[in-house]
Amino acid sequence: MTRWWIHIVLWLLLAVPAAWAAGNDGFEDVRKIDSQYFTIYYKPEVDLNDLLNQLNVSKADQMLSGQSVNFSSPEKQLASMLDVLFNRACDVLDMHLYSFKGNIKIFATQKELSAFYDNLYHSDLPCTGVSFYLYDFNSIYITAENFRREILGHEMGHAVMSNYFVVQPSVKIQEVLAGYVEYQLRKSK
Ligand SMILES: [Zn+2]
Repeated sequence: MTRWWIHIVLWLLLAVPAAWAAGNDGFEDVRKIDSQYFTIYYKPEVDLNDLLNQLNVSKADQMLSGQSVNFSSPEKQLASMLDVLFNRACDVLDMHLYSFKGNIKIFATQKELSAFYDNLYHSDLPCTGVSFYLYDFNSIYITAENFRREILGHEMGHAVMSNYFVVQPSVKIQEVLAGYVEYQLRKSK
């Protein structure tokens, strides 16, 4: 009996923090696409064409970022649209990260996203309330329902800042700057 408890305690002490340190946030059963700046993970029930229709990266985005969208397949289209958007976020903030690589994790529904965050932090969603960025996992979390360029731009703003500054600005300042990226994207639709 005593040994059994020691095993449980050891597992909690060693395995759980190890999984956390390895960047395992528990987002599982997913499909994967690689872009220049992101690895995009999405649940199998998420429809790629749905994501593309909502994201709708514009001609202006392509012109301003100096990068174009690759239409050869839905996967390449999504990857290149997100790279265009990332360059836009960097330009708006005037913070350029040349070796950045992060993750975007896409849930099918808001309910799943909220349950995921609650499981990790036992609280309501921060940031936009429909998406957030976690520095510990260098990941943007969002749903297929809200997969819009302004919201993703906001989260990319958080990713850029978190990786740009050595000393992190306050949460309030980070929200103001991420909101500024969102505002600029809305303005230049
Ligand atoms: Zn935010």
